[in-house]
Amino acid sequence: MKQFSIILLFVGISLSLVAQTKPEETEIWEPVPPVVNTAGDIPSDAIVLFSESTGLKNWENSEGEPAGWTVSGDHFTVKPGAGTIQTKQNFGSIQLHIEWRSPEEIVGEGPGRGNSGIFLMGKYEVQVLDSYNNRTYSNGQAASIYKQYIPLANATRPPGEWQVYDIVFIAPEFNSDGSVASPARVTVFHNGVLAQYDVALKGPTVYIGKPEYEAHEGKLPLVLQDHGNPVSFRNIWVREL
Ligand code: MG
Repeated sequence: MKQFSIILLFVGISLSLVAQTKPEETEIWEPVPPVVNTAGDIPSDAIVLFSESTGLKNWENSEGEPAGWTVSGDHFTVKPGAGTIQTKQNFGSIQLHIEWRSPEEIVGEGPGRGNSGIFLMGKYEVQVLDSYNNRTYSNGQAASIYKQYIPLANATRPPGEWQVYDIVFIAPEFNSDGSVASPARVTVFHNGVLAQYDVALKGPTVYIGKPEYEAHEGKLPLVLQDHGNPVSFRNIWVREL
């Protein structure tokens, strides 16, 4: 009986090996990924949040009034004191492309030089800062997840030059009791250089103290920070994930 079982076992193993010899066995045909046309500058399924032709029509201030920052051709600039601006549309998980430029004229130092920020869901800041020959705390420099994660590299270009962030943001999920089911996750490329790789955020960005999650909606506006410095932005688009 025991020998018979062993024989059966060998037959079984042999059959499964035979079954795995065809390449088709490991081909998966469904689902079919959607076609995205990349012939232009922007992927065909992207939502354009700012271009020379849109102006700031997709943005408003925190009161829901027209965004009061300064538009100039293909870019716009923080108007110090005008306050943050945010997208009219809400987003959850996204791929975000955004270009920014710190002022060519150097004013201030450390976190006071060319400071702005990209607040994903209005809560989670990817720092924008002139970090070119401008030392500040490492978890507050350009491409940091502010006060949470130091960037893997400082790829900052000199002030006055355009820079690119390509960001992958996965929105957090919450249980019905408000506890965190899965934290927000972020990957950032700064000028093509990997700066953050799939870091799990500890909660919304806070300036003082420790971040702590509080359950929130699944989609919220993207917010740009007015930190009092005339930082410029252009060519902003997202793909919803
Ligand atoms: Mg900032």
